[in-house]
Amino acid sequence: MKIVFFGSPGSGKGTQAAEMAKGYSLTHISTGELFRAKVLDGTRIGRRIGDTIAAGSLVDDITANYVLFKAIEGLNRFLVDGYPRNIAQAKMFDLHLENMGTELTCALFLDVPIEVAEQRLILRRTKRQDKVENYRRADDAPTVIHHRFEVYRKQTEPLIQYYSDRIIRVNGTGSPAEVTRKIAKALREWE
Ligand code: AMP
Repeated sequence: MKIVFFGSPGSGKGTQAAEMAKGYSLTHISTGELFRAKVLDGTRIGRRIGDTIAAGSLVDDITANYVLFKAIEGLNRFLVDGYPRNIAQAKMFDLHLENMGTELTCALFLDVPIEVAEQRLILRRTKRQDKVENYRRADDAPTVIHHRFEVYRKQTEPLIQYYSDRIIRVNGTGSPAEVTRKIAKALREWE
């Protein structure tokens, strides 16, 4: 099983992808997490990636492809969250998988109205939580949120069309537990 998981910022894709990976015993690969880890290593590349993330822009395709292809090396069952972010990456990914003699099983799209997703991001920023990884990310700053949605609309949303022959579209509104149930149901029906 090889799945890509995508949705707008604030769609809850990180949370749901982790749940799904657990439920289906898939290796969860989040390019956002991989990049955030790279920022901490203090290298020049790390700093460049950090600046890009903080600005709400996309890391360049060559770096994103490289990081993702390396992360899935040798894996048969994985769920990729946050990649691809644009059509160029999606095409490269298809080609890469084809060269490996395989293909994507499906693309799961978490559909959340922009207003709901924006509200969630604002909440994520203001709400104090004990767990730090989701709390006050630099790219959740109000000025950056707007840009992230713009990037999403222009670059990532066209993936809905690109994956139209293998997309599973799930309504991502409701509580996290409700959304998890909806995803499980959609996958059962699709299989
Ligand atoms: P995420 O955690 O998926 O929201 O990703 C956080 C940030 O990491 C994004 O806003 C981008 O700056 C960067 N990023 C993550 N995945 C990709 C990707 N596939 N291509 C380019 N940039 C990415």
